[in-house]
Amino acid sequence: MPYKSRWSIDIPNTHLASSILKSPTAPLSKTKKAFIDAAKPDTHFLTSHDFRLWSQRFAAGLRKSGLKRGDRVLLFSGNDIFFPVIFMGIIMAGGIFTGANPTYVARELAYQLQDSEAKYLICASGSLETGLEAASLANIPKERLFVFDNGLYEGKSNPKAGCPYWGDLVASIEEGETFVWDDLNTPELANQTLVLNYSSGTTGRPKGVEITHKNYVANMLQFVHLSTLKPDYEETKERLRWMCFLPMYHAMAQTIYIAAALYHEAPVYLMPKFDFLGMLEGIQKFRITHIHIVPPIMVLLAKSPAVKKFDLSSIEGIGCGAAPLGREVCVEVEKLWPNGAVNVKQGWGMTEATCSVLGWSPNEFSDSASVGEPNANCEAKIVADDGTEVLARKQRGELWVRGPNVMKGYWRNPKATEETLTPDGWLRTGDIAYVDDQSKFHVVDRMKELIKVKGNQVAPAELEALLLEHPAIADVAVIGVTINADERPRAYVVLNAGQSASGEEIARFMDGKVHHSKRITGGVEFIDTIPKNPSGKILRRALRERAQAELKQQ
Ligand code: AMP
Repeated sequence: MPYKSRWSIDIPNTHLASSILKSPTAPLSKTKKAFIDAAKPDTHFLTSHDFRLWSQRFAAGLRKSGLKRGDRVLLFSGNDIFFPVIFMGIIMAGGIFTGANPTYVARELAYQLQDSEAKYLICASGSLETGLEAASLANIPKERLFVFDNGLYEGKSNPKAGCPYWGDLVASIEEGETFVWDDLNTPELANQTLVLNYSSGTTGRPKGVEITHKNYVANMLQFVHLSTLKPDYEETKERLRWMCFLPMYHAMAQTIYIAAALYHEAPVYLMPKFDFLGMLEGIQKFRITHIHIVPPIMVLLAKSPAVKKFDLSSIEGIGCGAAPLGREVCVEVEKLWPNGAVNVKQGWGMTEATCSVLGWSPNEFSDSASVGEPNANCEAKIVADDGTEVLARKQRGELWVRGPNVMKGYWRNPKATEETLTPDGWLRTGDIAYVDDQSKFHVVDRMKELIKVKGNQVAPAELEALLLEHPAIADVAVIGVTINADERPRAYVVLNAGQSASGEEIARFMDGKVHHSKRITGGVEFIDTIPKNPSGKILRRALRERAQAELKQQ
């Protein structure tokens, strides 16, 4: 029998905006800050009332500009207090938000523009060169590329390079105040897609994951539900102060720092991107209570001497997910706070399940590397190679999950959807896990191709296709190797007969073609043939074992 969550909560059929902002006109705080620019906290912030009104103004403007229900809008930017406004405005207008990694090169951005068939590209002012190149590759005319910055906050319009300013899409205050988003109060309506977050899933290139209103509302409420289990939740709620340095184009930051934060009324201090010292300074300065981080940041916290220079005593909880992490690192980090005041809780999630599926009750002490148990209204099971459910404890198999937060499917890709979702709603995760004697899940390996570099997805299929463009390369396979609690792409290369190339040269060949996480930083190894099964599928496990042995010898 699958492991069913021990909690059940009510998940209404509703618009995401209604679930976190109540209604287009309900009173919201005009004084409590919701999103705050960590660099200019006294002058650059939005209250929840401001946030809703800006979002409504943007939604009204998008509609006026001709945006139709279901049209996609791509945002290419780091974090900013207006990032959540753009996210929510698109959704309020009935459009579909898709966010791209702000460090993408033009080719990567163009792929997402084309795959999602975005109507508009909203591009951070500082990344306009990349945006223009990508728009041209994807045949998006300049008049549909809008320059983005937070100048609008000061009433400025900053068009650039012949492209319009995103403020041109923001309607007047009056139009915003009267803008009403759709009522999605039936299961069919709540099943409308609101976000396409990109993920390679178990195989191949990145695909648009269709997340619906129902999915988002469910996952936000599941996440919030875990906090409400604390007996003193109401008291602690008042002093919540969060900080977001994880990228908001990714499901994790969206769910926690936009949706759940607004729901909890937790102020969020925004950093444009991760910077370790900036994070430590921010925790000290703003008395941050909780951080949600990825394993490489945990390692920095455990090892960096800089940590001792800051007062981190305001921290009450640390959540970690996105990639595997041993308990030892957590123990080191916990020593930063006296008397076991902070217990690191690991959680497991996947873009295809909105964000999170497995987590810990705040009332339990996590003393292992376990990722906890199923969220409210979710189920999980371990499945053997022959497709039967593994019933024995501690026996490994593929993790399958099911729940209201599991995606509708992959955007315009029924084949990939069919391979990933079973007809009865189970999501095959491609992760290997087991359940311990306390009914807690442990994610121990990955059978899918995916590599996670600093929490970012890297799809080997994409790197392999690019490496094959190198004139000396006949065949290639890319796998992930773990170095210092982080993963790095490592290439196994077969050279064409009579051709030569050094490992360094091959690694350099990728530099301008991909963003930094995808560079071949785990080494290039030459090999006679790539191990494959009879149908030509790369035997990645064999290569991973080989890599482990090679790295041990170094
Ligand atoms: P993403 O869709 O980018 O969130 O990546 C999802 C994948 O990240 C999962 O399928 C896992 O392979 C990995 N992952 C996420 N959380 C964990 C965790 N706590 N431990 C191990 N792997 C994880």
